[in-house]
Amino acid sequence: MTESRKKSDDIAALSNDYMMNTYSKTATIVRGKGCRVYGADGMVYLDFTAGISVLNIGHSHPRYIDAVRDQLDTLVHCSNLFYNPQQALLAERLVKLSGLNGKVFFCNSGAEANEAMIKLARAYGHDAGKYEIICMKQSFHGRTMATLSATGQSKVQKGFDPLLLGFEFADFNDIESVRALVSERTVAVLVEAVQGEGGVIPADPGFMKSVRKLCDEKGLLMLCDEIQCGMGRTGKWFGWQHYDVKPDAFTLAKSLAGGIPMGALIASEKLADVFVPGSHGSTFGGGALACAAAHAVLSIMEDEKFVEAAERMGALFTKALEQFVEKYPQVLGVRGKGLLVGLVVDGCADEILEDLRLGGMLACKAGPDVVRFLPPLCISEKEMEEAVEMIGDTLDNLYGGEEE
Ligand SMILES: *Cc1c(COP(=O)(O)O)cnc(C)c1O
Repeated sequence: MTESRKKSDDIAALSNDYMMNTYSKTATIVRGKGCRVYGADGMVYLDFTAGISVLNIGHSHPRYIDAVRDQLDTLVHCSNLFYNPQQALLAERLVKLSGLNGKVFFCNSGAEANEAMIKLARAYGHDAGKYEIICMKQSFHGRTMATLSATGQSKVQKGFDPLLLGFEFADFNDIESVRALVSERTVAVLVEAVQGEGGVIPADPGFMKSVRKLCDEKGLLMLCDEIQCGMGRTGKWFGWQHYDVKPDAFTLAKSLAGGIPMGALIASEKLADVFVPGSHGSTFGGGALACAAAHAVLSIMEDEKFVEAAERMGALFTKALEQFVEKYPQVLGVRGKGLLVGLVVDGCADEILEDLRLGGMLACKAGPDVVRFLPPLCISEKEMEEAVEMIGDTLDNLYGGEEE
């Protein structure tokens, strides 16, 4: 049974028979190029999920493919018992991009990067008896036990108690609710510059600054989860750069290595030497292949000016979507930053996504009320126009009614 001969329906049935039911899946995708993916059934989709912000450089970028192929030919992995040049150079590159002047720990996913950051904060506070981390309601930090304990959404936590101790939850964008939770046990505040899974909600400009100020005042660490909003997605390399603050540490994953699994924890000088041999580790973390892929991603992003593009195209897209707010009562608003864009709707995200897909466009949701758009940052104006037209058609199909 060769995969290419299977019809998409067979693949779905096979998947449902043999894979744990952790996702509600729709189309069967067999190939990607730029901003488009190709379905097993012959459909061509405009991909506004970009692998949930993993494909920021788009699908199958030729430079990316060459870099990964070259590395495959050279060295895939050598374990962290040895140095590898790709890893050291990538760490230098990330530290310089961030301006944090510290050090990096590599791992393989977002949850793992946040695990590392939580452990780092605990190690930092340990001798002073500080371990509590103030997290935000509606946040999302991952599916491992520590990261789901840090996630401010009961639907993620439900059924997995007892959760880990040491996480408190403040109202996002409400500094007084953060301040009220600070105790002698508090070691850090953890925040996303733009909450992705939680509904595409950007931090208010004043909030990030107030968190920084509060952390300085009370001797706490400011930690940022940049797994979704980092890597150029919002029109800056890192989401916190919109706010004129610097965190003490932040995490990356998703788009970092363009689809090859990779996570990273980047910490400031103050935290750079908290971990010592034996504190933490990862067999695959910072493997040569993933590092070469991440180098290619960074170079492509720089050379093709995708960070600037995210800002420019995001503004265009947002403006185009705003016309639908006036036109359809079911569309309540548009929010986000750069090309992390949420269309706020009246409980009807699922039916909009379904109709979009049938029309040839993929997007995802962030709760029942938000259609989340995450196009590759390489999107052209023409493709953007096409997307806006498809969204318009879908809204018209579903809610156009008698106006026609
Ligand atoms: C996706 C995501 C994670 C988890 O990343 P995984 O690679 O799925 O473990 C954590 N935080 C944020 C903000 C994310 O968007």
